[in-house]
Formats: sequence, structure tokens, C-alpha cells
Amino acid sequence: MIELGMTIDGRQVNAANRFAVNNPATGEAAGFAPNASLADLDAAVEAATRAFASWSRTSDEERKKACEAVTAKLAEHAEEIAQLITLEQGKPLNGLGSRFEMGGAQAWSGYTAGLSLPMKVLQDNNEGRIELHRKPLGVVGSITPWNWPVMIAIWHILPALRTGNTVVIKPSPYTPLSTLKTVEVMNKVLPAGVVNVITSDDKHANIGAAMAAHPGIRKIVFTGSCATGQKVMTSAAETMKRLTLEMGGNDAGIVLPDCNPQQIAEGLFWGAFINNGQTCAAMKRLYVHDKIYDEVCDALTAFARNIPVGPGSDEKSVLGPVNNKMQHDKVSRLVADAKKQGRVLLGGEPGDGLFFPVTLIADLPADAPLVAEEQFGPALPILRFTEVDDAIKQANNSENGLGGSVWSRDIEAAKKIALQMECGSVWINKHGAIQPNAPFGGVKKSGLGVEFTEDGMKEYTDVQVVYS
Ligand code: NAD
Repeated sequence: MIELGMTIDGRQVNAANRFAVNNPATGEAAGFAPNASLADLDAAVEAATRAFASWSRTSDEERKKACEAVTAKLAEHAEEIAQLITLEQGKPLNGLGSRFEMGGAQAWSGYTAGLSLPMKVLQDNNEGRIELHRKPLGVVGSITPWNWPVMIAIWHILPALRTGNTVVIKPSPYTPLSTLKTVEVMNKVLPAGVVNVITSDDKHANIGAAMAAHPGIRKIVFTGSCATGQKVMTSAAETMKRLTLEMGGNDAGIVLPDCNPQQIAEGLFWGAFINNGQTCAAMKRLYVHDKIYDEVCDALTAFARNIPVGPGSDEKSVLGPVNNKMQHDKVSRLVADAKKQGRVLLGGEPGDGLFFPVTLIADLPADAPLVAEEQFGPALPILRFTEVDDAIKQANNSENGLGGSVWSRDIEAAKKIALQMECGSVWINKHGAIQPNAPFGGVKKSGLGVEFTEDGMKEYTDVQVVYS
């Protein structure tokens, strides 16, 4: 049984209590993580505050080198961490699973190491010189979800470090082990206290809520559900914390009548079913033009039917179980309702334990819960449209606005539709393919601020203007 400690001030620390972490493929305990107390949180914030005094004064070049060293450590431990991700998250080692996640973590880490926010001269003339400096904030609190635990941790930690902040990270209670190990290996190349990790089952003490209210934390970067993100925003108001919030989505894909159904089936499938649909910017509603509706349904069903679903540790599995019971119950409820109103093309019945088969449901009305709510699981509603304007209207009929996609052979026509979609990213002929060199964030209730690139890094800094 795996048991890992927290890293606080560069040292391995265990809490007075521990909690079990389940393997979603078997439903059995796979390991234990420390169940932190509020005093453990205070110790982590104090360590990060002490470390900030020197880390914030390091040169840009020193921090770049340190982030490169972190990237090298991730590469060295990639397989070990991938095994932990599969164990606790459920995703397969192969395909777009945990090894892919570790590849992403290294790509984002390496790219972010190479970015910088140098001082900018705004004016330099007879009337004077004006310089814009970007200064680190202090201690950054990072709160992460269970779907891409390590990649999202890297999205939070690296820009914070690169800009001179220190970090306390708290992973989801479903996936603490991979983050504990990631922070442990980072600490082999970072000064003590620069990155600290604490874990909690959210019951013993709600560490996430305490972080959002903590007076020693200057910023929260949060990825998770809209409901929790709103709570974070409310608690953060008291201490005027800076916030980056990456929350839920209900992304729509719009397929225009000029598409070849056979050619787009694979892209549509992975746009919706990457990580079993448990991906913030996965396609969660598919709108297909009436002219090719039946062909697209047939092609997608034929492709999806052959995807091997099984335990993530089996090298042949391409999709694994759903991560946790709450999520499995939600998908089961939405699909049970959808079966009454729509036509099941594939799947539809919950499998053993936390397994749920790839499910495709056609002909649902716009207000069916599987369409209106974020399912965050392996079930896709496919809706029919005849007027493109109507499809755009339906796609935008959501409180969320994370991603969207348009599928067409006519790229320029697709771009015109993309610009009418109310979301932070729109892909043409693919969905959800994020990159470290493009900012990512949601509009409407999907988030606040962006991640990645210099735009994302700016959110970890205060602006100071010096007039001389
Ligand atoms: P969640 O909101 O339940 O949990 C996220 C984190 O918040 C966990 O670490 C949890 O312990 C912590 N938390 C719980 N209560 C808290 C509180 N009161 N204050 C502060 N933190 C608290 O989300 P989840 O179920 O882990 O993740 C699924 C959701 O995340 C989905 O809605 C998905 O769309 C979203 N998500 C968004 C993105 C994005 O980039 N936009 C990426 C991944 C996931």
C-alpha cells in the first residue's frame, strides 16, 4: 500500500491522521495520504512566506534555471508519477492517459521556464522616464481538481515560481498521491519552502476553504467546479486576494453540412471522450446539421464501439473507469433521464463499479439535463439543427463559456461562426487541443483570468510603475 508524506519547508511531514485513496478500477484502497489540520496549513503558509523573502529576490535567470531543473525532474520521474495517476485517477497509462499527462506536464513546465516578463519602458524622453515592473505577489495558494491532477498542478505552480512567488498546493482528495510525489521531486531542486503541498479529505478540515480565507495567501489559482469557484471568490473578497479561476464548461461542437462524416468521426470522438469526458474543455454537446445527421451518428457510433475500456493499468485499455462515485452517479442520472427522451446509439447502462460505457444519445430536446448540465463523463448528446444561426444560439445558451468547436471544410466560414461563439477558445475541426503557447480561460461563469503564456504569468504579479 502506497503512503506518501506532505512536503512542508522542504521536509517530509505526516499529519496526525491519514485518509485512504481509492483505486477507481477496483474500488479498493490503493494508498494513504496525510489528512492535514488547519495548523498544518498555517505551517505551510509560514514556510512559503519565509521562502518568499529570498526567492522573490532571485534573478530572472536563476528562476529560469530552477524551472528548467524542475522540468528535468519531472522527466526523470515521469513513469513513476504516471503510475500513481493511473492508480488514483483511473485513466489508462497509454493513449491520452497518464503518460500523455506527464508529457503535457513537461511540455508546459519547459515552455513556462522559457517565458519572462522583463521591465518595460513606457516613456523615455525630455519629460522623464517611466518604467513598468512586474513584481511577485507573495504566497500563491493552488487548489486543483482530480481530472488532470499533475498537469493542472504544473499549470498553477510553474508560472507562480517563474515570476518569483512561492506556493502552497492542495490537490483533490481523490488524487493526492501524484501531487505529493510531484512536489517531493520538485523539492530536490528547489530551495526549502518554495513549493509546499498539503492534502486533506475535505471532511476532517476543509483546507481549500481555509486557503481561500487565509490572510497569509495573496492569490488563489483554482481549477474545479463553478460552485466551488464561486465559494472561493466569496471568501477571497475579505483579504482582496488575486484570483485565477478555471471552472466548468458545457462546450458545444457545431458540425456543418459540408463535412465528411467518416473523416471527422475520430476527431469528434476524442474531442468528447478524452479522459472519459472528464475534461473541462471536452465537447459536451454536439450539434449536427440535419443533412448529415444520420451519417455522423453512424460514423461516430462505429468508431466509439471499438474503443477498449478497462482498468487503466492494463496497457491495452484506451479509456478507464470514471474517477469517483459522485461523478458516476451524476452520469448515471443524466443518462437514465436522456434514455427516456432520446435514442440510445451506444452504451447507456452503467457498468461494474465505477465503469461506465461510452454512451451516445441522439434526438434529445434542448432542455434535456444531459444537454443543459455539464455531465463530465463518457456520455455525449447529439442534437439536430437545420439553421446555423439556431445552432449558434443553442451553443451560446449556457451560463458557461469555456470552449467550442466548428467542423467544416470551409475554414473561413467556420471562423465566422467561431467568432460568434461565446467562449474562451474555439477550435476548427478539432476540440480541446490546448497548447502552452496560447492563453486559455473561460468567459461567463467558466472562469476569471487566463492561464499559459505571458498573459497567464501576468496574473501572478503586481504592476509597479516607477517615474523618474
Ligand atoms: P471541485 O470544485 O469539487 O474541487 C476542486 C478543488 O476544490 C478540490 O481540490 C477540492 O478539494 C477543493 N475544494 C472543495 N471545497 C472547497 C471550498 N469550499 N473552497 C475551496 N476549495 C474547495 O471540482 P472537481 O470535482 O475536483 O473537478 C471537476 C470540475 O472541475 C468540473 O466542473 C470541471 O469542468 C472543472 N475543471 C475545470 C478546468 C478548467 O481549466 N476550466 C479544468 C479541470 C476541471
